[in-house]
Amino acid sequence: MREPEFTFELRVCQWAEREWPPDGSLDDGTAVLVARQLGTRSRRWDTLVLECDREALAARAVFGPDRLTGDLLHVVRHAPREWSYYREALPEPGYPWRYVRETIHEAAERGIVDTRRRGGRIELRRRWHYPDWCRRIVAIENKPDLDASAARRLGDQVERDVALGLADEVWIATRATGANVEPALLERLPVETGILAFDGGDASVAWHPAALAADEPGTRIVERPNGGDRDRSAARFEYADPDWKRAKRRELAERAYERGWRAYVETMRPDCRHFELRRDGGDVLPWCAAKGRTQTARECSGRCADFAPEPPAWRTRGWPIEGGPGKGIRRLLDRQRERARRPD
Ligand code: SF4
Repeated sequence: MREPEFTFELRVCQWAEREWPPDGSLDDGTAVLVARQLGTRSRRWDTLVLECDREALAARAVFGPDRLTGDLLHVVRHAPREWSYYREALPEPGYPWRYVRETIHEAAERGIVDTRRRGGRIELRRRWHYPDWCRRIVAIENKPDLDASAARRLGDQVERDVALGLADEVWIATRATGANVEPALLERLPVETGILAFDGGDASVAWHPAALAADEPGTRIVERPNGGDRDRSAARFEYADPDWKRAKRRELAERAYERGWRAYVETMRPDCRHFELRRDGGDVLPWCAAKGRTQTARECSGRCADFAPEPPAWRTRGWPIEGGPGKGIRRLLDRQRERARRPD
């Protein structure tokens, strides 16, 4: 039986964390952060690889492991060094100031800005400088079985990514077939898209991507004709402003920081007695002892016919891991996620 797409996706994430970039190496000042299943309201990518300024990434840690939303970023990035009235310190938000006040209170509760009241006015002061920690964003779409119809569907999606240029590079990760990726498939994909061919836990470049202009205006493809003989409709495009793109990239980076790629375990049942983490080459993958294979996040739920909760005795006295193996697995993955956020 072929490995499910979910397992392939976990392999891609782990490979990227170990090996990125595919050819050549990063300088010592760069660290890599990998996240899974993230994007904007209209587009979600399977894997995101963030190339980060190592020092700035370490400095980001003082703001805590939870993401800063777009509203919080507005406050934290512009909070002044010295006490100031918030309306004078922060740029015009483009929405009512009362929402900014709410965000300032939220930031103060999280301990990431200082606030005080002076003469009925709210003043704020930064606690730390918010670092520009993410240098590049690389989006990877995972399609282990890249046949003609998958390439056509992906081609349309990826064309939108290339036109918008929210990421600096776009790749497709697929399973190596032993032969070269068929030229007919390549023709269906935008030439700017890179292709990574995976053989187990190793990858090689089948096609190099072009760098996208993430700092420049992008084009949002809102609607496109279906291309049939009778289709005379025109495609509709929208302009994506560089400021909008910059803000979205920051929000995306923050969500990747919070989530990482190991959050998959949060929707699975590591508290099932059949749940294991197994090493396979350089990868560590969830394994279901009852099914005798890697399980998907979807099937590993309380509704699974083989689900068997770990006995209470495992969670109490006599078991070497506090809280039982399920809790132990979660803690282990959380620790690894935290380590990825704090490179040496
Ligand atoms: S038996 Fe079901 S719930 Fe238990 S680990 Fe396997 S897939 Fe998950």
